Amino acid sequence: MDRSQSEYLNAVHSATQTQPADLSAHLSIYQDTEKSAVMKRSRFSCLTLNQLILLLAFAAASLTLLNSFYASYQVQKQQLIQHSLDSNYAYATKLASTTNGFLGSAQQQLAYAAAEIQHRVADTGYLLQQADRLRLQTDSFNSVVVADAQGIVLATSPNTLEIMGDQLTSEGAIEALNRREPVISKPYISATNRLLVFISHPLFDRQGRYLGYIGGSLYLKERSILNELLGTHYYKDGSYLYVVDQNKRIIYHPDIARVGDIVEGNQVIERVLAGNEGALKVVNSQQIEMLAGFSPIRIAQWGVVAQRPVEATLASLNGLMAEVFYRSLPMALLTFFGIWFLSRLIARPLKQLADTARTLDHPETPANLAGIRSWYFESSELKQAMRKGVALLQQQIGQLKHAASTDPLTGVFNRRSLDLYLDHFEQQHRMFTVLALDIDHFKQVNDTYGHSVGDKALVALSRKLSETSREQDVVARTGGEEFVLVLPDTSQEQGYEIAERLRLRIAEMAVESVGSIQVSIGIASYSDHSHTTKQVLKQADQALYQAKRQGRNRCEIYQTEVCDLAV
Ligand code: GH3
Ligand code: MG
Ligand code: MG
Repeated sequence: MDRSQSEYLNAVHSATQTQPADLSAHLSIYQDTEKSAVMKRSRFSCLTLNQLILLLAFAAASLTLLNSFYASYQVQKQQLIQHSLDSNYAYATKLASTTNGFLGSAQQQLAYAAAEIQHRVADTGYLLQQADRLRLQTDSFNSVVVADAQGIVLATSPNTLEIMGDQLTSEGAIEALNRREPVISKPYISATNRLLVFISHPLFDRQGRYLGYIGGSLYLKERSILNELLGTHYYKDGSYLYVVDQNKRIIYHPDIARVGDIVEGNQVIERVLAGNEGALKVVNSQQIEMLAGFSPIRIAQWGVVAQRPVEATLASLNGLMAEVFYRSLPMALLTFFGIWFLSRLIARPLKQLADTARTLDHPETPANLAGIRSWYFESSELKQAMRKGVALLQQQIGQLKHAASTDPLTGVFNRRSLDLYLDHFEQQHRMFTVLALDIDHFKQVNDTYGHSVGDKALVALSRKLSETSREQDVVARTGGEEFVLVLPDTSQEQGYEIAERLRLRIAEMAVESVGSIQVSIGIASYSDHSHTTKQVLKQADQALYQAKRQGRNRCEIYQTEVCDLAV
């Protein structure tokens, strides 16, 4: 049997394996259900490698992005807070030192004025002139007063106060009289209902007798040099500063209503009044988190606190983070798509190998396998292993198919293959002629030369049959020394001629030990639908029987009458 015949047989085999229509439909529905169940299982219970890698890549990219986003948020936040603390601290220190300087210079001005007037305290005109000069020249004080040792007013500026000759009993005046030294009073509410600070310098005559004092007042709630000094630097984004005196009383605040309040329990105030400076995160009286810088005004034992709400400080953070997000997004997307693309490249050969693994027995599988680009080590190893496995499997399948379709002694087709061919021809409505061939007196050959010589004769005859037959002809051994030849597209007459030629050639053939053998051939044709292929085989057998009866070593065409006689 040559290769083309074997392939043909495969085709015939599969073509003739069809089931009755209803049964086959039933089977196909069943198979479809099975198939879709398998597909569902594999689709939903198992993720593909591509999906897994993609999932992994997505998780890794998202986590990295999130992590760097979080880290960047924390760093930015910390930086903003630290920056705010530092700048508030610097601001508080600067204002404390400016205020300190201002109060010091106010004291100096008073000391200078005191030295000027202490020898002319009786000269009211001069005192008034000096008081005016002190108030107007430097703009340091809201009002200036000169009093004697009993606190009686000797001169004032502005002179509209109309308290000349009155005895001053305010806190500042009494403190100045009592201490007889340069004093910056605690803030207090004056007789005119003003919150003020009184800065004074004592007056002494040449003998060192106490004569009284010269003092200047600074209004804390109204326009004053102190107010201007502190107020000019006022921030607008929720930042503000305030000043407290040694009694924790607010003496400056952008909200005038707060001036005069005493603040207890504030950590920053505690610290600044203890003489410390620095920066701290605190919660203010409105329960708002603040970033405060603080510094003491040592000359007056006051404290400056500059602060800004944490919320205002971090307001820019959202914008910053949005910026970070938008800037890192393109790279993250690029990374993601890069990984996605690579994952596809990695998964592709494995997917192709997995797809091919489902059809290992298909004849096109080796070619499909060869076409897979296994570009990395593991996939290449898998591919090689599969190629070897497929080659082995297909070789075994081929061997099994060959063994199932041929006769082991002679190598020509067996009865089963013959039936498949005949069914196929019948389905195709193809005309053919059958030659039923039987060796004459073969029993004698066996008896005379032995069974193995008989076998050799059978092999020699098979070879001759195969050699002389055309490509489309089918040669099959159907019994011990019986053969059938199927000649497609051949009429009965042509078949008879072929049979005759064959009979003569066989008779001429040299058979080892035996010398020669002779055969009888019965001929029948299949050309219409009145008979089945099985009936045609039977007819050929009957014609063969007729040939034997008529003396052997001859060919006989099946005749209807013969059939009638025989049956
Ligand atoms: P006829 O001319 O009527 O056909 O006579 P015959 O002897 O050929 O027919 P018969 O049916 O009496 O004998 C067939 C013989 O074929 C019997 C058996 O010994 C022989 N035979 C059958 N199968 C084999 C086989 O595989 N090998 C060998 N060597 N002999 C076989
Ligand atoms: Mg026989
Ligand atoms: Mg015989």
